[in-house]
Amino acid sequence: MVEFNFFGGDLALDLTGTLGRRHGGTPVEFLPAAADLERWLIAAGIGDPSARADDSDLAYAKTLREAVYRLAYAAMTGAAFDPGDRDIVNEAAAVAPPLVQIDDAGVLVRLGSVRASLSLAARAAIALVTGPSATQLHECEGPACTRMFLDNSARGTRRWCDMSRCGNRAKVAKFRARHTAESAVSGQAKS
Ligand SMILES: [Zn+2]
Repeated sequence: MVEFNFFGGDLALDLTGTLGRRHGGTPVEFLPAAADLERWLIAAGIGDPSARADDSDLAYAKTLREAVYRLAYAAMTGAAFDPGDRDIVNEAAAVAPPLVQIDDAGVLVRLGSVRASLSLAARAAIALVTGPSATQLHECEGPACTRMFLDNSARGTRRWCDMSRCGNRAKVAKFRARHTAESAVSGQAKS
């Protein structure tokens, strides 16, 4: 079972992060089945545990995810928003979000369909790409990652979606490259 990541710093970016390795190669799909979408909504803290997703909900979520990704990418690069993408996100955001209540036991209860939960991600996306946080949009520099995140570090110099994953991987790759170069040099010295 795939483990989800929530490194984006924003619900909308965490949704787009369910497709990894977007540029070149084979993308990594974190939502291969409708049941994975149900799990993602719960993990993201916006799902109703009793709500079931079917294949059309899954297709809907992926259409929304890709439209959100393109809008966020446009916001990051200063490009214009595609009207078709705006329509997709606007329509998803128009769905009423889940009902949130506190029950007799003092526990939060969230009631709503899968699309009601996805409305929250669409609303987050609209707020993100039109708001001041858009200037903090970054793409992870991990070559096999391509996840987008909000860099809210004080100096705005964050390079990785997650230091313990992509940051460490880059450090190891750099160490290996240096080590290989050094052993090549010492190998030449011997001959
Ligand atoms: Zn990354």
